[in-house]
Amino acid sequence: PSKSCELHLVLIPLFCPGHQIPMVDMGRLLAQHGVTVTIVTTPLNAIRFRTLIDKDIASGSRIRLLRLRFPCIEAGLPERCENLDVLPSRLLSRNFMDAIGMLQQPIEQFMEETKPEPSCIISDRNLPWTFDVAQKFKIPRLAFDGTSCFTVVCSHLITLSKVHETVSDDQEPFVVPGLPDRIELTKAQLPEELNPGPLGSKNMREHMRVSDMGSYGLVVNSFEELEAKYIEEYKKAKGDKIWCIGPLSNCNKGKPDMAQRGNDIVSIDETRCLHWLDSWPENSVVYASLGTLSCVQPIQLIELAIGLESSKRPFIWVIREGYKSNEFKKWVHQENFEERIKGKGLLIHGWAPQLLILSHKSIGGFLTHCGWNSVIEGISAGLPMITWPVLADQFFNERLVVSVLRIGEKVGSEIGMKWGEEEKYGVMVKKEQVVEAIDKVMGGEMMRKRAIEVAVLANKAFGNSGSSYLNV
Ligand code: UDP
Repeated sequence: PSKSCELHLVLIPLFCPGHQIPMVDMGRLLAQHGVTVTIVTTPLNAIRFRTLIDKDIASGSRIRLLRLRFPCIEAGLPERCENLDVLPSRLLSRNFMDAIGMLQQPIEQFMEETKPEPSCIISDRNLPWTFDVAQKFKIPRLAFDGTSCFTVVCSHLITLSKVHETVSDDQEPFVVPGLPDRIELTKAQLPEELNPGPLGSKNMREHMRVSDMGSYGLVVNSFEELEAKYIEEYKKAKGDKIWCIGPLSNCNKGKPDMAQRGNDIVSIDETRCLHWLDSWPENSVVYASLGTLSCVQPIQLIELAIGLESSKRPFIWVIREGYKSNEFKKWVHQENFEERIKGKGLLIHGWAPQLLILSHKSIGGFLTHCGWNSVIEGISAGLPMITWPVLADQFFNERLVVSVLRIGEKVGSEIGMKWGEEEKYGVMVKKEQVVEAIDKVMGGEMMRKRAIEVAVLANKAFGNSGSSYLNV
């Protein structure tokens, strides 16, 4: 090809697992199609996925990492704080976004010097300054929205209609106008950009500008058959430039390094984990995880612990390190909890090989906080879900799973936590509710059948000549 035909895509993720993981998968996928891909990262973030990238490079892929020093000190962050999941306090979110913003200059310098010349930027929706970079270089910027198209459309219609401002009470339900399905929400379930808490408005809000601002189009980690009606709605409202190219996690499926995807260091020996799973019948085990950023109070985690124990079903539960995890561990120790559940339950403190676990045949249900990656990974694995949204877009995603696709049962609270104010919330979900929802989902054959049907569509979409493949 002539020089001008050599495509070079520059990918700029938001540095948190739920946004970085799918962007890295996307980069690896695009590079497999023969284009040059540069993923902007920092030294500590690169450690999380460099083995995968090194392997890709060794097998001829034109993918590379641009490791930029992260200006922690300049932005008032503790040293080594290069990812939102290690932020010692939510109060520092603003500093974190400022630090990412400071990467604009070194990125521009790179783009001036690199060959082949960059042809397009694909950047996280929360980094509006990347549009200025694209303009400067006269190339398009595609926004990557780490959520469902359903969520994008719901947010758009709520913003447009201001329906949420017509209710007097935070917990009074309203119907989102103009949607193909009847979707009810309350103000207390809306993300910060639609219903800012005191901290949200100070810290995050100005970064959370409309998802596709200044972008040429939108790339979504979903597939057309999953939410066709909502993609149509998006096109009606904003035009045709939307591409669903997921489930992106599928590019790791069945590969030997699937466990490492997302983090080089998993907190359990994967052979032990698989061995444990092998000992259970098909569809019998519950996998529970509330994500990488949620700050659920220890008192609520204890309630969940007892719920899982009382459910009389085998389970794997991953509990994130960091936020008050020592308090919870103390309880586990005092109560001899791991001994109590021995043989039946497996706790993973830290990082679980989630994709590997979800793909195991003995997993029969997924208790999830409804972060979009978890949802789409659960969908691709054909799993019915027990939904426990906490904040951000999670209540929207839950509605898609429970009300539209009907492959999940709600267990979680009706009230979203406000970013940075999590201390205010105590036990919002009782152990009996956990048991009840698990029973319904694990015993619900119709729901399982539907979940498997949706998984077939997901895998077809991602495979050769499928809709996502063609969109790539
Ligand atoms: N993840 C994982 N192991 C863990 C926790 C999370 O592999 O122990 C991955 C998970 O598979 C998903 C991502 O991290 O790809 C989390 O993104 P999601 O959107 O589900 O939730 P968030 O953490 O952003 O709220």
